[in-house]
Amino acid sequence: MRVVLHPKRARPFHGRHPWVFAGAVADVEGDPADGDEVDLVSHTGQFIARGLYNSQSKIRVRLYSWTEGQPLDRDFFRDRLQAAIRLRELLNLMHPQGGCRLVFSEGDGLSGLTVDRYADWLVLQFTALGLGQRREMLAELLDELLRPRGVYLRTERGIGQLEGISLQDGRLRGESPQGPIVLVENGLRFQVNLAEGQKTGYYLDQRDNRQEVARLAAGRRVLDAFCYSGGFALHAARAGAAEVIGVDGSEAALTLARENARLNELSQVQFHKADVFDDLDQRVQRGETFGLIVLDPPKFARRKSALDEALRGYRRLQSLALRLLEPDGILASCCCSGLITLDMLEQLLAQVASEGRREVQLLQRRGPSADHPVSVACLESHYLKCLIARVR
Ligand code: SAH
Repeated sequence: MRVVLHPKRARPFHGRHPWVFAGAVADVEGDPADGDEVDLVSHTGQFIARGLYNSQSKIRVRLYSWTEGQPLDRDFFRDRLQAAIRLRELLNLMHPQGGCRLVFSEGDGLSGLTVDRYADWLVLQFTALGLGQRREMLAELLDELLRPRGVYLRTERGIGQLEGISLQDGRLRGESPQGPIVLVENGLRFQVNLAEGQKTGYYLDQRDNRQEVARLAAGRRVLDAFCYSGGFALHAARAGAAEVIGVDGSEAALTLARENARLNELSQVQFHKADVFDDLDQRVQRGETFGLIVLDPPKFARRKSALDEALRGYRRLQSLALRLLEPDGILASCCCSGLITLDMLEQLLAQVASEGRREVQLLQRRGPSADHPVSVACLESHYLKCLIARVR
């Protein structure tokens, strides 16, 4: 079965971009069912790559192999998973009590699959129908390669609509965890709730940024805005911050954060339930000041049409944070919208600094931890940015 491209549309796929959008497709031969293997060919019939078909997605074919005649079978996926595991071993992220992103979708040549490891549990998340259909096989392979206690499935809302898959959250293999499990990150312990936590239970992508930001926290009054289970807050507290306040809008997140503070015996941390925009506003009115502020909001821009509004959101957060920072204060401004680039985030900060008449020095321009690799063929998967700056 073949998917034929329009003339002049083959270039990105020779460059190994894995997403074939419907607009590039001239013809579909052989009537593939959704999830079936297909060859992608140029308008002259020349083989380009092999992938999985989905008539229900704007991404009509996701590509996995550039070798002609290579079946996308069990051996193929075992190979890909092994390569992903080897990278995490190389990065020294396979400590049994620790966590890491084991498979990062396009970054690991497995578009539509992420696998997070939390100690000896694995959480799979599918964003592609073709791999979602193969979930039992993929879970079996991971079981064979890593012998986890259990493999769990979580699905992001909205994916059903984009991809035409409906998957039930729950256990795929092995045991079901009884309550939250404990993960060790940079020597701190975090509870992770596989069944009910946000995303797959924890934000592994910020591991190195938490450590880096905490290096600047000693002796300071710290605000961790959008704190979830307290990742930045607890790192800052352990690094000797004078006082730490975490703010989040979710009661479930704050319950986790408070338990995590207790678990690590960190007492100078408080968690507060509020909308961050209102909370920052009120603190400005009250004349409060901080020595370090972390802004780690959720993704504001899901599609291009929402970009302007999202930018206004980030700008407002940065502007409020600058007003709250004392001289020589540190701002860590994070952004996980793929549509907003590092350049755009820096531009916003420049504008906000100029309006607030503050001098801002960029100290670091950071991304996610290395277990979130970016394929140069698919730079779109570089989503997380973290600017660390000093404000004078
Ligand atoms: N910094 C966290 C991850 C943040 S995820 C970490 O290191 O793990 C984003 C968080 O923002 C979520 O916990 C969500 O509950 C919270 N959130 C989203 N919108 C919010 C708002 N307007 N006010 C307060 N919290 C919000």
